[in-house]
Amino acid sequence: MQDWSMRISHVIDHAAREAPNREIVTRWADGSETRTDWAGVHRDAKKMSQALLALGLKKGDKVASLAMNHARHLVSWFGVAGMGGVLHTCNPRLFEDQLEYIVNHAEDRVMLYDAAFQPIVDRMRDKWPTVKHYICFDSGEHAPAFEDWIGAQDGDFEWVGGDERDPCMICYTSGTTGNPKGVQYEHRSTILHAVSGLQPSTFNFSSSSVMLPVVPMFHAASWGLPYAGAMAGIKFVFAAVNDPAVLHELMLKEGVTDSAGVPTVWLAHFQYCDREGIDLPPLRAATIGGSAAPRFMIERLMKNGTRVQHAWGMTETSPIGTVGGPTHEWDQLSFEEKVTKTMKQGRPIFGVELRIVDLDDPTKVLPRDGETSGALQIRGPWVVKRYFKAEHDAVTEDGWFDTGDVGIIHPDGTLQLTDRTKDVIKSGGEWISSVELENAAVGHPAVAEAACVGMPHPKWDERPVLFVVRKEGTDCSSEEITEFLTDKVAKWWLPDAVEFVDDIPHTATGKISKKDLRERFADYTLG
Ligand code: AMP
Repeated sequence: MQDWSMRISHVIDHAAREAPNREIVTRWADGSETRTDWAGVHRDAKKMSQALLALGLKKGDKVASLAMNHARHLVSWFGVAGMGGVLHTCNPRLFEDQLEYIVNHAEDRVMLYDAAFQPIVDRMRDKWPTVKHYICFDSGEHAPAFEDWIGAQDGDFEWVGGDERDPCMICYTSGTTGNPKGVQYEHRSTILHAVSGLQPSTFNFSSSSVMLPVVPMFHAASWGLPYAGAMAGIKFVFAAVNDPAVLHELMLKEGVTDSAGVPTVWLAHFQYCDREGIDLPPLRAATIGGSAAPRFMIERLMKNGTRVQHAWGMTETSPIGTVGGPTHEWDQLSFEEKVTKTMKQGRPIFGVELRIVDLDDPTKVLPRDGETSGALQIRGPWVVKRYFKAEHDAVTEDGWFDTGDVGIIHPDGTLQLTDRTKDVIKSGGEWISSVELENAAVGHPAVAEAACVGMPHPKWDERPVLFVVRKEGTDCSSEEITEFLTDKVAKWWLPDAVEFVDDIPHTATGKISKKDLRERFADYTLG
């Protein structure tokens, strides 16, 4: 067979050749709308590659973005890879010390940003010594405007070639204790992941698909949708604002068939429809991931005639690991049974393997019996081997990555998540460190010990609850503890409740046993 290096440039070449006029629509933050197509994205990506080389960038250099979803951000996905660079999509919701850390750690050379994030850029500029060039996606007021910057090039350019194992993108995850960790995606891993993403049992894309991805382009490569969408030549509709009224209007106006987002995004959309007394848009498929999709959400979408694709994955897994969708016995199942099945996290897509191992003895692989739960491990060509600049591999000797999630694998391969071993809480799609909250809480003079766990919440999926053992002879109220934490952590990290307990369970090695604590408070409700 012929040599065909799996480079991202093939993806955009294909889209421009086979679906040149398929539209890419953007609704900007100021309410204006622009339209381009795959031929336009291809042309602009070439100009962008030229413009980056003209700035003196070389193969392997990193280009950061601080931006929402829009066509110019999409151009940069192909324009950076096209000159051999590595795109670093930064999450603007990170704390500023994290933004400082990740940009310096990645040694980003250029920062592409939305005008809406000008205040962040102004505050961070002095803390980002490696960034030599700032380009603003949608305004020329404080930095060269993207369109002018690429407009100076003629687009007559051969993509920079290279090895398919070269990096093309880096995403940092803050769903971890300590500093955020960088995961570099390669050209090859990205292509393999996107090809698997096209399958009927994954995103089910065809050229008739019209996708509005609500999942941000800065979160885990927007679940790989831009690449898979380019391969299938789909129409994309992007919204640079996350307002359900705007999303709803665009879905109807542009004939959107597919959308994807974390549960809180869907919840906001339901609430909007209820307020307005209108129906949900007639979507063909809704992908829900990043946190567990609750029953009522699945029911409502299914009653709307929408296929629900409940997905599990991580930044470390590019991110798709499993996706739920109709299985062979689907037509025989009742509505209730279909909903119950969809609440589980789906089945592995081709390319990745899952296994569960004993929590105390990770060498012991557990059965896929639908009952036994264990630490979830994954391996495959788009799963991290080593974090960027780390000294050691992040996988076991036999190549498995420990996800920090705990689950059950059913005999038909369906994954069901039940818990998490990592000390983080996911609220509305963003991470909160339980360890940092605990450390801050024990600084209070009346606190002997504190343990923070995520409890199910109807709006935010999970919210932190702090369990506190008071020092003998002291007294303090939950309000006093919350007040004490106010200047130590971000406001949205503050626990939803502080509960006083006589003791906190520990493991044999003396660590706080969150598992036992969660079991003890299994019926706890919030919200
Ligand atoms: P991130 O790297 O920020 O995308 O977060 C990945 C983590 O989010 C996973 O390890 C899980 O803990 C959680 N997660 C992702 N998808 C789901 C899901 N469908 N259900 C429950 N938790 C999920």
